[in-house]
Amino acid sequence: MILKIYNSLRGEKEIFKPILENNVGMYVCGPTVYSNVHLGNVRTFMSFDFIFRSLQFLGYKVRYVRNITDAGHLTDDGDVDNDRFVKQSRLEKLEPMEIVQKYTVDFHQVLEKFNLLPPTIEPTATGHILEQIELTQKLIDSGFAYVSNGSVYFDVLEYNKRGLNYGELSNRNIEELFANTRDLDGQNEKKNPQDFALWKKASPAHIMRWNSPWGEGFPGWHLECTAMSTKYLGETFDIHGGGMDLKFPHHECEVAQGKACNGKAPVRYWMHANMLTMNGQRMSKSTGNYILPMQLVNGDNDFFEKAFHPTIVRFCFMQAHYRSVLDISNDAMVASEKGYQRLMDAMKILQSLDESSFTNQESNWAFDLWKTNAYAALLDDFNSPILIAHLFEAAKTIFAIKDGKVQLTKEDFSELKSLMHDFVYQVLGLQNIEENNNEKLDQAMQVLIDLRNQARKAKNFDLSDEIRNQLLEKGIELKDSRDGTSYVLN
Ligand code: AMP
Ligand code: ZN
Repeated sequence: MILKIYNSLRGEKEIFKPILENNVGMYVCGPTVYSNVHLGNVRTFMSFDFIFRSLQFLGYKVRYVRNITDAGHLTDDGDVDNDRFVKQSRLEKLEPMEIVQKYTVDFHQVLEKFNLLPPTIEPTATGHILEQIELTQKLIDSGFAYVSNGSVYFDVLEYNKRGLNYGELSNRNIEELFANTRDLDGQNEKKNPQDFALWKKASPAHIMRWNSPWGEGFPGWHLECTAMSTKYLGETFDIHGGGMDLKFPHHECEVAQGKACNGKAPVRYWMHANMLTMNGQRMSKSTGNYILPMQLVNGDNDFFEKAFHPTIVRFCFMQAHYRSVLDISNDAMVASEKGYQRLMDAMKILQSLDESSFTNQESNWAFDLWKTNAYAALLDDFNSPILIAHLFEAAKTIFAIKDGKVQLTKEDFSELKSLMHDFVYQVLGLQNIEENNNEKLDQAMQVLIDLRNQARKAKNFDLSDEIRNQLLEKGIELKDSRDGTSYVLN
């Protein structure tokens, strides 16, 4: 089994060889928790959730670190006072850490709705200030960084002078970068416009601040990922992921910081997920072209004709490869709903087929070839749309088995059944809406049964009879026995 991963560092697919056999260390840049995540953010996190699930399915033990950025991410206008958290805390009249808490909770709730697995470690920037101060000191001591007016900057020219290559990840050359930079942030403090902040001096109004050897301040955004990935995954680790838009400058700076600190590249495989667009335009809060995940799920929006279950959204996202742009539209969602339903119909038949459908002779469908192809899709840079195409082929076969047109041996059938389960639920992370609804019905019925029991205890037989009779009218019969009350649908 050979897994190939597209490595953005070299712009090609490469055979994946983890540092430690059968183990993978993966770091993904997490959200900046100063506002609700939009659906575009969810796509990137879902892409890496699928990759995490696939790696586990392929037999790797994965340490998956995804951070929470809760300090240090400046607004685009470069105003030092406009730390995103500080700005939002003024707007909402809350403490910055209340902002952090509020949107971290929102982030977790949203991802749970879309059935994303939690990472194995979820560190926060504010929990790693010491590590960031230590790294900054190390970079100053080795001459890669300088102090200026209480802030500390990474010296990009010095980095290049030592034969290191700033711009290698994003394929930019430093002269071009210098020529094209319009610098707003710290322009009087930096030696060069491309130098980036490792530590920022806090202005008197800046409330998120920590003590440091250079005075009170806060860490730079790029440094937190270097500090946390090094701490939990080591100086060099296997996979680093994030949205395409983070390649420059964020990831470029991470490469520079890692190399300057440890003398070696921090990451073996850089993976970048492509953007979600809506009506052909990139989804982004700043342009207003965005939808919140729950607005799509509740139908509370002007873009889609109806509400869509989170698993339909997930199926829609999985139908595009993680490196392709995905445009979300009403038509795409409606088509996804149909496709999902067809797949689930096949899954239901798979459960219900019995011995009489199997043959004692050879299968007349090439199961082994199908299995090889389905695995190959996953092994070819996690190609979810090709995998889904194979699942549809299997669905067609399952319908044909039911109609008696295809026969499988018992062994092929049980392996198909178990693989379909793995691919649909474990790898793609889809949910069975019908089964989930049944669970909810069970829970709702238990509430009614408990209420009826309470009424009986209180000798309010009018009410207890009313509950039973009304349910009976709806075709739900309550059955009392010594073990308690159960219900059957008539
Ligand atoms: P942020 O909280 O802004 O740091 O963004 C969190 C993640 O969402 C980053 O990895 C971004 O690259 C990603 N992201 C932002 N906009 C989009 C989009 N329209 N489509 C997909 N991913 C996005
Ligand atoms: Zn990062």
